[in-house]
Amino acid sequence: MRYEGNMYRPPSEWQSYLLQVTIGCSHNACTFCGMFKDKKYRVRPLSEVLEDIDMAKKYYGSLDQIFLCDGDAISVDTSDLLKILHKIKRVFPEVKEIATYASAKGILAKSKEELLLLKDAGLTKAYLGVETGDEKVLTDTHKGVNVMQMTDAGKAIVETGIDLYAIILIGLAGQERSKDNAISTAKIINEIKPQNLAAMTYMPVKGTPMYKDISDGKFKVLSDVECLQETKWLVEKLDKRHMFFTSSHASNYVPIEGDIYSDKEKIINVLDNAMLGESAKRVENYRGL
Ligand code: SF4
Repeated sequence: MRYEGNMYRPPSEWQSYLLQVTIGCSHNACTFCGMFKDKKYRVRPLSEVLEDIDMAKKYYGSLDQIFLCDGDAISVDTSDLLKILHKIKRVFPEVKEIATYASAKGILAKSKEELLLLKDAGLTKAYLGVETGDEKVLTDTHKGVNVMQMTDAGKAIVETGIDLYAIILIGLAGQERSKDNAISTAKIINEIKPQNLAAMTYMPVKGTPMYKDISDGKFKVLSDVECLQETKWLVEKLDKRHMFFTSSHASNYVPIEGDIYSDKEKIINVLDNAMLGESAKRVENYRGL
């Protein structure tokens, strides 16, 4: 398989074949993110992507799951994305899931009809980095959209019938605004109503503007207990409805999974126990992005 630079995918895509459709992230400006800083964004030539699908057929024979990389494959022209999805379905008729990272800007650039075409062509899942529902934090971190735009983008995916995995970043507002961040993030999630909510915990990445703010004393990273408290405030404010919640990513101090409808109280208990030191927390050396 042909890949350029470091590859990233959500933890839940560990079984997926990674098909590199773009190089890097079309936005590449978030102050906390170092994922694609080594790459200048471009869309790979369509012919190369289609060739890769044939190469994957020769190598793997059959595939159940495919993840479209890099940072924001949904930003590719809809006509080209449709050609890619159609070819995947032709070559791998057995494929069950085709997923992508989707930025809010990339989603909003598409009409409802375009999103429906993508769904009908086989796109089953989109991972949206909501990060926070706090207007100031979205602005300060240069996320590129405001709360209303982020909400509209998330809702557009849900309304299309594509499974939405909303990703949030605990601790992104720092110590002083931790509770506000939790409450506003629960609010945006309640508004979007994603089928899945994945919590990650902020970890400083060398070379990013936020790393410099930390070094300069302008931003205070939350402690383990403060991160758990912020997660608890968030979960408490989530509407009790069916939504799969996970904090199993390696950046988190406690891996939790459950349905917010049936497991909300259990999740809060797990967080309480970890805060009180009655259950183990992931030690810093074992955390990672
Ligand atoms: S957080 Fe997402 S949108 Fe922002 S720079 Fe990183 S990959 Fe791009």
